[in-house]
Amino acid sequence: MTDTKGKVVAVNGNMVSVEFDGKVSLNEVGYVKVDGKSLKGEVIRIRGNTAQMQIYEMTNGISTDCTVEFTGDLLSVEVGPGLLGQVYDGLQNPLPLLAEHSGYFLERGVYLPALDENKKWEFTPTAKEGAKVMAGDAVGTVPEGPFTHKIQVPYGFLGTYTIKKIVKAGSYKIHDTIATLVDEKGKSHDICMSFKWPVKRAVNCYAERLMPKEPMVTKVRLIDTFFPVAKGGTYCIPGPFGAGKTVLQHTTSRNADVDIVIIAACGERAGEVVETLTEFPELKDPRTGRSLMERTIIICNTSSMPVASREASCYTGVTLAEYYRQMGLHVLLLADSTSRWAQAMREMSGRLEEIPGEEAFPAYLESTIASFYERAGIVKLRDGETGSVTIGGTVSPAGGNFEEPVTQATLKVVGAFHGLSRERSDARRYPSIDPLDSWSKYHSVIKAELVEYARSVYRRGAEVNSMMKVVGEEGTSLEDFITYLKSEFLDAVYMQQDSFDETEGATSIERQKYVFGKVIEILGSSFSVKEKDEARTFFNQLRQNFIDMNYKVFQSAEFKAAEKNLDKTLKDHGTELGEEVKALLKDGE
Ligand code: ADP
Ligand code: MG
Repeated sequence: MTDTKGKVVAVNGNMVSVEFDGKVSLNEVGYVKVDGKSLKGEVIRIRGNTAQMQIYEMTNGISTDCTVEFTGDLLSVEVGPGLLGQVYDGLQNPLPLLAEHSGYFLERGVYLPALDENKKWEFTPTAKEGAKVMAGDAVGTVPEGPFTHKIQVPYGFLGTYTIKKIVKAGSYKIHDTIATLVDEKGKSHDICMSFKWPVKRAVNCYAERLMPKEPMVTKVRLIDTFFPVAKGGTYCIPGPFGAGKTVLQHTTSRNADVDIVIIAACGERAGEVVETLTEFPELKDPRTGRSLMERTIIICNTSSMPVASREASCYTGVTLAEYYRQMGLHVLLLADSTSRWAQAMREMSGRLEEIPGEEAFPAYLESTIASFYERAGIVKLRDGETGSVTIGGTVSPAGGNFEEPVTQATLKVVGAFHGLSRERSDARRYPSIDPLDSWSKYHSVIKAELVEYARSVYRRGAEVNSMMKVVGEEGTSLEDFITYLKSEFLDAVYMQQDSFDETEGATSIERQKYVFGKVIEILGSSFSVKEKDEARTFFNQLRQNFIDMNYKVFQSAEFKAAEKNLDKTLKDHGTELGEEVKALLKDGE
């Protein structure tokens, strides 16, 4: 605590005005004393000797004679071994421990250590005495779950340090001194295995930022093939309530080709969060067969918790992601939903009586969202390794209207847009990503010309479909009708995917390439069908054959048998590959 003393002069919901005597800085953390408790808050505006603080707790009971203590510190998280597998609230309190401490209803003003201070870790030094190190460099490692956790020089250490002393290999607690560093002025600093870092300050202890190019495979065909995400990239999933945002994020967290997944559940309904919390520890990691929680961190704030901590959840999540990126790991941060965070911002802005922007969101909504997504990235570390933070955020616009400010602000900064459509989810076409509205700036794992060809067939089929609604099937030519059937086929066997089946729910890249090739052949072929009913029957059969194949383990005997059936159906209907696709398939793979 600093010497600065404060006194509450006004309370407005979660915002408290404090008159202070001394020095206070922006984003500094302070505690309001009420009923023998200390409630955590953050300074968000200073005018003369009055500070406005957003309080991360319910503010009932705070009155104008309450005193306020200031810490001189920014809102921070503690990083170190033991973060994986944890379930935190937005202020990094371990939720299971908090619940143990205060029973069913979380007690306010209780803050628990984020990391177990008594647990021992097997430390192996990797840096030698006399070596020069900088912030973010590793001095040693400990095993954490399936990973080698790098113990780093704290990010706040400026300049170059010399290692004066480092402990021998052995077991240590996170707060034991493991090394003594000497700065350029000759001053000694002891470091341990954990340190604090302000959540709103991006970690930049790397050699260089790289272009996100390598795909972050999700095993969702519609994403990887049509609207891919790159490692270190950003994407958003806007969609109306119930369209499948949360299910899609959960599928992704299970299957994505990353080391660590951090889920920031900010402000969604409590029931949904409880689902996440009960479901996750049960899930198996498809890669290792071990518990998925071993490589997951959940940060969770439900809609019933104070709104200010939604913002804290997002920042806490991204800071922990950056910490693991610094070890050369690939991290995926999923924020669900950023709209709730934006609503909290709007509430606070209203209380501050700022000049409102569109739909009463603050004028800085766009820049705040941008600076959050900017913390994603793939970087080359000073030791030559590469690490990445990919950010995927859901947006839940009221009524599914994508024209609203949060969706629009997010669209401007992300690299891929997976817009969920009510029409598709109502028709139970999952994942309900709209194939016509969505886009991605990243490279697909599949040749661009082939994807473009499939897209054009889909687009033309959709056009025929809407035309048929006007002129009826009779008024449609056989050729157009077949285009429509082809687009429906593409949708049914490739774009739609049953995420609850182990095999069908996760399609590897190798498999996507293979089956997409087959889909393209069908889209680019002509058949010997003479009339619409015959065409419909034929495509129904094709679809069934293909779906049968989708549910079989890739290249297994059953898979090959299903493929044979499909090939037979094609052969029986005089399938002839057109020149255009023949040429496309020929050059390249
Ligand atoms: P949102 O987060 O957009 O409000 P949810 O992800 O909670 O929506 O999905 C709502 C419901 O829709 C789910 O409970 C589930 O029944 C259904 N659903 C969503 N995605 C799928 C899917 N891929 N496969 C099957 N059902 C799904
Ligand atoms: Mg949801």
